[in-house]
Amino acid sequence: MSHRVTLIPGDGVGPEVTLAARRVIEAAGVAIEWEEAQAGAEVFKRGDTSGVPVETADSIARTGVALKGPLETPVGFGEKSANVTLRKLFETYANIRPARQIPGVPTRYDGEGIDFIVVRENIEDLYAGVEYLDSRDVAVALKIITRRGSEKIIRYAFELARREGRRVVTCATKANILKLSEGMFKRVFEEMAPEYPEIEPQHLIIDNVAHQMAKNPAQFDVIVTTNLAGDIISDLASGLVGGLGFAASGNYGDTVAIFEAVHGSAPKYAGQNVINPTALILSSVMMLRHIGEPEAAQRVEDAVFVTLEEGEAVTADVARQAGDVERSTSTSGFSDAIIANLGRAPSLRYPGKSKGAPAPSPEPRPRWVVRSVAVPDTRLIGVDVYTEQDGPAAPVGEALQAIAGPEFKLLLVSARGTVVYPAANASIDTVAWWRCRFVAAEDGADVDDGAILRLLDRIGQRMSWVHVQKLRLYGTEEGFTRAQGQ
Ligand code: NAD
Repeated sequence: MSHRVTLIPGDGVGPEVTLAARRVIEAAGVAIEWEEAQAGAEVFKRGDTSGVPVETADSIARTGVALKGPLETPVGFGEKSANVTLRKLFETYANIRPARQIPGVPTRYDGEGIDFIVVRENIEDLYAGVEYLDSRDVAVALKIITRRGSEKIIRYAFELARREGRRVVTCATKANILKLSEGMFKRVFEEMAPEYPEIEPQHLIIDNVAHQMAKNPAQFDVIVTTNLAGDIISDLASGLVGGLGFAASGNYGDTVAIFEAVHGSAPKYAGQNVINPTALILSSVMMLRHIGEPEAAQRVEDAVFVTLEEGEAVTADVARQAGDVERSTSTSGFSDAIIANLGRAPSLRYPGKSKGAPAPSPEPRPRWVVRSVAVPDTRLIGVDVYTEQDGPAAPVGEALQAIAGPEFKLLLVSARGTVVYPAANASIDTVAWWRCRFVAAEDGADVDDGAILRLLDRIGQRMSWVHVQKLRLYGTEEGFTRAQGQ
């Protein structure tokens, strides 16, 4: 059966590594009709600020699978990364990065049996890219975590663990500090874990995960985490098992999967035929499993591992690490060596935690039902109004106190999350950006939109307000955090 795959050569070293991957896949006997498509620097230069032309998006929508080289985000042509655009266009919400000890690739952890997978939420969090300059000196980014997004990625992680026969899923968050956003991710994880009784759920704070990863990385099995944390720890994970030249990844959505190396376009090596193509070839192995070619995937993976284990052909990055640049092999020469090794298996198999079929499953994934939660009574009990005004906190607080009534009272003013009015702490270095929290003048009463608009009108006559956030109660649960010192 022939498969159709969109091939995006990409920028810098992209054309070299995608060519290497394509040659190896074809030599493994997989029939693929490639639809070559453009994205990245050239597209930005043509004035398309998305970096992804309609024809490319159409091709991916048609084939459902893309193999892509790295894409640059050239400064001055387009503001948004074409990579992020692709992820968002197709809602590839699951970024999967395996970290496994590879034969013949020396690391500090040789023989410890590193074999884990980072499952990173790929479209929410700070990568939603919703940022504002709230005042001339204050930049704000919205960290967006949704129950639906959390459920999808957490289910993905548990299903992956189940398919692979893995034992532990670690949820890594910063829920101790970000109680509502990261806290939601943790809560969803705890709610879903009982559906997978054979898997041990574990929650660790993300900084501890970083620490543990450096100390004893072999303890991890599957790690599921939010977007920014996942970005950082998956790169850390790559570093544990040989670095960027070896780090593969897949971005999976409900209808589309995009496979790419973790590394970028390495412009200084572009066109020199010296880059290590292993990362993209191992990403192709993930792709072959995804499109239902598990035997070919295994053949390619084995051939890569034999080549690395025997070390007769090594790319410059590996030769450099071994202190012997003279004996390095070109990108194409290294690909030739892999092709010559198709059909052989590595003699050394590192211990693996996976007891089942390797991820991801080739079966089309069902559209998982996202559970709805009952919405308890929602009450509007106040409003935070953010204002900018130079000078100390007390005059701001006093002015707002005076105009809060009759419908509101000013509860507090905080600067960067810490109360500075009325209980001003002299040691706080404030900036001209105040969160002014108003609640109903009558204790415990509700407020309404009309009252908020009248309040904003009164505030606007005294100082500049920059944004507004409603304070809600969901049942008895506060839908906002308290200020430090409140
Ligand atoms: P990079 O990954 O391109 O390169 C950093 C260095 O890592 C290189 O100079 C090289 O020494 C080494 N390296 C990377 N890949 C290697 C390989 N396959 N073999 C051997 N050595 C390798 O990172 P960068 O320089 O920060 O980024 C360059 C461009 O790539 C930027 O425009 C960035 O936006 C883009 N980028 C794209 C992606 C993507 O498409 N997914 C990812 C990261 C960066």
